Amino acid sequence: MYNYTYLRIRHDMQLITAKQPNLFEVFSQRARILAPEKLADFIDNSSIKMPIFSENGDAAAYAYGYGYGYDLPTLKRLAVIPVLPPANQMLLAYQYVISNPEVLNLYALYNDRRMLGMVANKEMLPNQLLPVNTDLNDIEPWTHYFGCAFFVSTHVPCSTDEAWVSEIYTDTFTGLNTITLYFPFVYYEPVIKDYRYGLKGIDIAVDRAFKEVLQPFESLNPTRTVLSFEEVEPCRPFHLCLSTPLMRTKADSDLNLKWSYSYGDFSRAVLFGPAFKIYLIALLLLMLTGRSIITRVRTQAQTDALTRLPRRDILSQARLREHDYLMILDIDNFKAVNDTHGHGVGDLALVAFANHLKTNIRKGDVAIRWGGEEFIVLFKGMDDDKMMHRSAARLLERPLHIPELPASITFSAGVTRIRDYLTVAEAVQLADDLLYHVKQHGKRNIAYYQGQTIRLVRDPGADSAP
Ligand code: GH3
Ligand code: MG
Ligand code: MG
Repeated sequence: MYNYTYLRIRHDMQLITAKQPNLFEVFSQRARILAPEKLADFIDNSSIKMPIFSENGDAAAYAYGYGYGYDLPTLKRLAVIPVLPPANQMLLAYQYVISNPEVLNLYALYNDRRMLGMVANKEMLPNQLLPVNTDLNDIEPWTHYFGCAFFVSTHVPCSTDEAWVSEIYTDTFTGLNTITLYFPFVYYEPVIKDYRYGLKGIDIAVDRAFKEVLQPFESLNPTRTVLSFEEVEPCRPFHLCLSTPLMRTKADSDLNLKWSYSYGDFSRAVLFGPAFKIYLIALLLLMLTGRSIITRVRTQAQTDALTRLPRRDILSQARLREHDYLMILDIDNFKAVNDTHGHGVGDLALVAFANHLKTNIRKGDVAIRWGGEEFIVLFKGMDDDKMMHRSAARLLERPLHIPELPASITFSAGVTRIRDYLTVAEAVQLADDLLYHVKQHGKRNIAYYQGQTIRLVRDPGADSAP
């Protein structure tokens, strides 16, 4: 009964977070459509004779946005230019980005120590606008970017897709909680006959961007909700604390949503709820038994009810790191099982498959129900592809029959080596691509990369299910 309460809160919160797309991905996509040289050209070629902040209306009043430029060593402003038609045609992509209310500011930091930017309106561009970080070398991603390779004109140093997200800080102009997403770029500038490189930055207002998750409910708001790069919330006394990863950054850190209820707020909130008595009992139990119950309940909350396997939430970056290979498995033609024999038999097959996995992996390996009829297995203690190949072949060879089904249950899978630089999302994506390959090439097989080549564990020519 007590876990009803906990599970419900957790479940509700997860519904909210599921609705929140990974902002990092969203803005990464947006940033990719921006061509920084356009902004540079624009600033460079504009006559700065245009009135900047006109007191008596006219041109500037009709501006769609403002472009500005700073020389960072001297902090001198090069230009502040209202973006008017037809220039705004050229800057459509930029406007698209800054038209989102959560975007405060968009800018590019160049290797010649200039900062060029755009803000959505003149209210957000005060006269005293100064860059927050005056020394480019103090900006961590910037150091990182230059640290990663010497500039060679024949290839793009590092990956232009590699991106960073800053810590949460208070923006000096707006006073808002802000994070900055950085995207490195390189482009050739004909005028100087050389490459320019830099960082594109998008300042995001945290509270606005994460409005839904920070204020999820009408009546049952948590006592405290924070976003943080730390996974574990130092739990206040007599608080019920929860946490879930919210945003996976490519800089290899998870932004976590952490929320807690004080018992007072908790009981007040549930007084209005329908399951009043259950809540009260839950509350009492929680008070009496404290954290040990919370830990147990947390484990239960992370266990899939049908298969008794852990659910996908347990696949953290840390857990990934502890293993050598990640395999994603998908049962073949499972829809047909449901359609022909009914959902009940489908469920039985899932349970049987989960048990089959559990008994066929070693201690230290982890099997997870990833969702539907998809599973993930993390393998430990595997030194090389050869060893993995052998284990994979063994798994494939062992047929799984259940009395309710005439044919054996087979699966397709992709398996990838876990490299230090891979995030959970990337590792899963790699394995998933391989799984897709198997589905396209006859199913009931396992694929992996050998260098750039995709290898199949079972020779697809030697077919016929057991
Ligand atoms: P493929 O070989 O390409 O994977 O074909 P498939 O039929 O397995 O295709 P797909 O992955 O699209 O279908 C998965 C089906 O699994 C759809 C859904 O109805 C069923 N399913 C998902 N979760 C459950 C569950 O918990 N119980 C049952 N019985 N069925 C489920
Ligand atoms: Mg599937
Ligand atoms: Mg399937």
